[in-house]
Amino acid sequence: MSAATDLTPPIKKVRPGHHAAEAIRTGLPQVVHFSITDVCNISCKQCDIWAKKKGRELHLEEWKGIVDKLHDWLGPFVLKIAGGEPFVKKWLPDLIGHARSKNIFVGVSSNGILIDRPLAWKLLDIGLNEINLSLDSLRPEWHDYVRNYKGTFQRVMEAIRYFKEAPQGSIDVNLACIIHHQNLDELVDIAWWAKENKLRTVTYQPLLQNFAESYNPFWYKTSELWPRDYAKVCRTLDDLSAFRRKHWTVGNLPAQLNTMKYYFKNPDHEPVQPCTAGTNDAAVDPFGKFYLCFNLDSIGDLMVQTPEEAHTSHLANQRRAEISGCGRNCYLLNCVFAEDSEHMS
Ligand code: SF4
Ligand code: SF4
Repeated sequence: MSAATDLTPPIKKVRPGHHAAEAIRTGLPQVVHFSITDVCNISCKQCDIWAKKKGRELHLEEWKGIVDKLHDWLGPFVLKIAGGEPFVKKWLPDLIGHARSKNIFVGVSSNGILIDRPLAWKLLDIGLNEINLSLDSLRPEWHDYVRNYKGTFQRVMEAIRYFKEAPQGSIDVNLACIIHHQNLDELVDIAWWAKENKLRTVTYQPLLQNFAESYNPFWYKTSELWPRDYAKVCRTLDDLSAFRRKHWTVGNLPAQLNTMKYYFKNPDHEPVQPCTAGTNDAAVDPFGKFYLCFNLDSIGDLMVQTPEEAHTSHLANQRRAEISGCGRNCYLLNCVFAEDSEHMS
């Protein structure tokens, strides 16, 4: 059977209520995502978070208060900070230091442009645990094209070097790479490059619809980045699975890569397995609203509620029911992919 036809079929339809029951059994979030800002210093072709409606974003002291509330509820947890571009907030190192002083594990996702040597070393000094940097291509002109900003490739390479060569010892440096039509040929090369340069993982993300647009299952039909050669997509995903089995530098499970084949063939179809959003994680937006999934309505407001009140609210149970029947395809992302899926291979 060719790679193109070796497609795991849909196993089952999501059973309404199944995921909600699981979420309730699992209990507290172990990972909390902070979307610290909707502001970004660039405007990538595959993301329009910067186009979201603006409001008054929280200040440092308000974020520290949210960290304290979450720590009171959960004890030490895993904090994943992203944006927009989180380093547009000059006070971000202070927030990271505050979380680290409570033994909270902190990772930050960034496009790398604002990370100069003094900032990288400061982050190491305050005990940042991991940095996740966007890299979509090893061809500078293509990375810069898709990131829509000349010089981005050069800056992310420099940021990697600042972390890896720091005298105080490095941290886990991960790459995040979005799968496009134009970078299929080099996805495995990126994994090799990461391994040779002693980075921890490269996590591959399927191209999805932009954040700020209303949901449209046919969005991909007008995307210049959508992979159009399905046989090549399958071969590449198989190569990444093989790479992962040998070297671990690929951050995606083989089951997840296999499920992506179904998505790339049927991007407007219903998901083939439940999304785990809100089961082990939760999220806070730049205004202090608390979420089980950023694409659904919030479950409360951490400026006026405790996280526990919001997490056990009627609204939270409504969101859990919505997640169990959600028809979108972001269940393929690492943070919400069900690891115990029947697609595991
Ligand atoms: S993908 Fe990241 S760097 Fe690009 S616009 Fe979105 S938030 Fe900014
Ligand atoms: S599939 Fe996407 S929108 Fe739906 S619940 Fe999961 S993360 Fe949220």
